Amino acid sequence: MNPVGKPGKTGSLMPVEAALARLLEMAEASRIFERERLPLAQAQGRVLAEDLLSTLDLPPWPNSAMDGYALRMADWTGEPLTVSQKIFAGQAPAPLEPGTCARIFTGAPVPAGADCVEMQENADVQADERVRFTEVMTPGQNIRPQGQETTVGELILSAGTRLGPIEQGLAASLGCAELDVIRKVRVAVLSTGDELIEPGQALGPGQIYNSNRVLLCSWLQRLGCEVIDAGILPDNLETTRARLGELKDVDLILSTGGVSVGEADFLGIALREEGELTLWKLAIKPGKPLTFGHFRGVPVIGLPGNPASTLVTFALLARPYLLRRQGVQDVEPLNVQVPAGFDWPQAGNRREYLRGRLENGRAIIYRNQSSGVLRSAAWADGLVEVLEGRTLVQGDSVNFIPLSEVLG
Ligand code: AMP
Ligand code: MG
Repeated sequence: MNPVGKPGKTGSLMPVEAALARLLEMAEASRIFERERLPLAQAQGRVLAEDLLSTLDLPPWPNSAMDGYALRMADWTGEPLTVSQKIFAGQAPAPLEPGTCARIFTGAPVPAGADCVEMQENADVQADERVRFTEVMTPGQNIRPQGQETTVGELILSAGTRLGPIEQGLAASLGCAELDVIRKVRVAVLSTGDELIEPGQALGPGQIYNSNRVLLCSWLQRLGCEVIDAGILPDNLETTRARLGELKDVDLILSTGGVSVGEADFLGIALREEGELTLWKLAIKPGKPLTFGHFRGVPVIGLPGNPASTLVTFALLARPYLLRRQGVQDVEPLNVQVPAGFDWPQAGNRREYLRGRLENGRAIIYRNQSSGVLRSAAWADGLVEVLEGRTLVQGDSVNFIPLSEVLG
């Protein structure tokens, strides 16, 4: 259990990597180990619960990489060879008759006794249907040897691997019909704010539509979580307490808004009363305030309410936390170094994640980087990282984190 945190002093901002390290530690301490067995096709987005070892050699037998002819090198004298059998993929061939060749197609087992496959383009079929091989051949050519991809007992996918189409395909190639995965993380999503109403209703004075709810709910679904949509929480302590209390059976309460030590910080008050609260002022822009705590033992992450801040802090902090709770080790998104296609003359004291795009190999940024502007992220295909204290001129190298890296 971590001690009750205090708001950081002005100017003492917590670096992003320190916040991430703390969150991952806490995720590690509350790892989910319960598992379920799923049909392979349903394992998409889930996390493998135990190492997957190969129970097969792949390929299980040597097979042809080409349409052509299988022969024994020693039989090749320059004279044409008789075709003694025809082998299609899916057939089990007889051993190669000495002194002959076999017509063979891609993926078909190479017959015992043959040690090379010549592609059909280099074979001259004679009038008498014998085949003359004109090019120099080498032993093993065009044969995919048994076990070239894997051999029995080899580790193929480690526990903690996230499963996607490639991993599912690989498991299928080994004959796995089902996989043991970590059960879904149950995440309750709460949007806080008296000003929020749901799309579909008429907008009254002072009201805005709730964009974070659907943003987080659909994102969490893509991450393989079970989403409990807990709706909008008004800025009111009684209701906050009561609603948090209803969310007992979840692994995480994920809220947005109301974390900015303002007067309407009812979530913070409720956590201080009946759990614990760490309020971080992060050196991140957008998204300075972030809370982590517990309410009656249930972990709570409170993201800032401005939609672009919600997006950035979810992508960089909450997403890795959720993955680590399922045992995923590799939780940080890939990033690439690209030249900046813009100037950044004013150094900031927070690390900026600008919504940007790659154009002609350079990162360019959306014209309005306000934390309230979600459109910036819809325009973007990545986050351009500008480190604290850094200025840039065009051509300087920056980190670019593709949004596709964090959205799934
Ligand atoms: P707060 O953190 O509650 O002070 O909110 C910061 C800003 O984000 C305010 O302008 C809120 O109106 C806005 N905001 C908070 N939650 C949402 C939400 N779910 N959808 C859209 N905007 C929000
Ligand atoms: Mg609010």
